[in-house]
Amino acid sequence: MNKQQVLAADSRLAHRNIPITIIGGGIHGVSIAIRLLREAPTMARHIAIVDRHPQPLTQWRDKTERQGMMFLRSPAVHHISSDALGIVEYAERHNRTGELAPPYSQPSTQLFWDYCNDTLTELEQHRVYYQFEVAKLRWDRGAGQFPFRLISKDNVGFRSRCVVLAVGVDDCAYVPAEFVQWRCQYPDRILHASEFTVDYQDEEDSEESFVIVGGGLTAGTLARSLSERGHSVALIARKQLKTEQFDFPPVWLGPKALAEFASETDFQRRYEIIQQNRGEGSITPDIMEALTDAVNINIYPETRIQNIVSVGEGGPTQRLNVTTDRGDIMNVSRIILATGYQFNLRRYGFLRELIAQHRIPLVCGLPHLDANLQLYPVQNLFGSGTIAQLQIGPASGNIAGASLAYERLREKLLAHL
Ligand SMILES: Cc1cc2nc3c(=O)[nH]c(=O)nc-3n(C[C@H](O)[C@H](O)[C@H](O)COP(=O)(O)OP(=O)(O)OC[C@H]3O[C@@H](n4cnc5c(N)ncnc54)[C@H](O)[C@@H]3O)c2cc1C
Repeated sequence: MNKQQVLAADSRLAHRNIPITIIGGGIHGVSIAIRLLREAPTMARHIAIVDRHPQPLTQWRDKTERQGMMFLRSPAVHHISSDALGIVEYAERHNRTGELAPPYSQPSTQLFWDYCNDTLTELEQHRVYYQFEVAKLRWDRGAGQFPFRLISKDNVGFRSRCVVLAVGVDDCAYVPAEFVQWRCQYPDRILHASEFTVDYQDEEDSEESFVIVGGGLTAGTLARSLSERGHSVALIARKQLKTEQFDFPPVWLGPKALAEFASETDFQRRYEIIQQNRGEGSITPDIMEALTDAVNINIYPETRIQNIVSVGEGGPTQRLNVTTDRGDIMNVSRIILATGYQFNLRRYGFLRELIAQHRIPLVCGLPHLDANLQLYPVQNLFGSGTIAQLQIGPASGNIAGASLAYERLREKLLAHL
């Protein structure tokens, strides 16, 4: 897509009636669109993916690049299309099987990205992707065949028969309560991991001191990336660090665990099962090895930050002294909160009115979906990704969650084409 087409993209949707709209062009939105297009290639004009970014998968590429992530955590079979061996065959065709890491053929981030880019040509050919930030989603029950109305920030509107929310978790960055005040005091020095890039530079070639808060893979990856760039890192975790290859037990991809999950009728209990199975974060064995080998990384397990004070004036020379219950860390240039996300549908401004008007029930911020991933009580509004956790379970927000979601959505969506 060239720049001119991108700028014109919004208005291509104006006043149209689109049978299926997918909000979110991330891993989930794109996976669903590709699967649909492969099943019904002649129906492309009935499908739209809308995203605030000019290109699909922008969020994914930005996040992985900004953290300096080298390999995926998940095996090569999990990606954006339905052919499980897609990445492996792509790697074979391009002599890149060396980028599939043992023991589970985890692809390098670059291989994964190149494969995605190759597959994205299918979306380009069908011209189903539109840059369009949804500012409001309305459901006018009984308003004919296209009851949803989507309105962009600049007031472009179109109607849809059915909408899939694939909006990820980015609007739900989690900042622990004790950091809220400190972040207000030192907004340039204390950042959530989603706001930080490892290749930032305050001063040319300077070696800085960082504190990273968190015990999951984001904390570990950032610590390793910063240490490789010559910075010193204190990694502070509330618990002992845990080493695991995957971020949830793989049984959650199989029918047995999912059937048991479905038999649990109490959605609060389902939420607790998800929390227990995803835990508070873990680090893959290769990253853990890099952390323990690096001379410029100090790990502080079972540690809490008690106070943060500024050294000197604000501006680029400002540094912080951090007091923990295991001693002080001086002259810190930045504190990065690798504290993850806490999904809450209310955080998505474009849905606020819809949630209130139709009294969409939420359990700990997650919508109460039916088995077809439909957001009760709104008809033909579906979810995929973390939003669908109460049906898909602990794998829902991961790449593999997109194919689990498509199995549930497939029939309903195809019926709208
Ligand atoms: C660094 C990193 C590494 C990861 N590695 C793995 C891994 O190896 N394996 C794995 O299984 N999972 C991994 N994950 C977890 C997960 O698979 C990814 O986060 C994945 O990108 C989630 O996809 P998504 O489509 O749900 O969300 P996103 O990729 O965040 O996409 C959501 C999209 O919705 C759009 N959007 C939101 N609101 C609006 C709106 N109002 N209007 C228009 N567009 C909107 C956003 O712009 C965004 O593009 C990783 C996550 C991160 C952050």
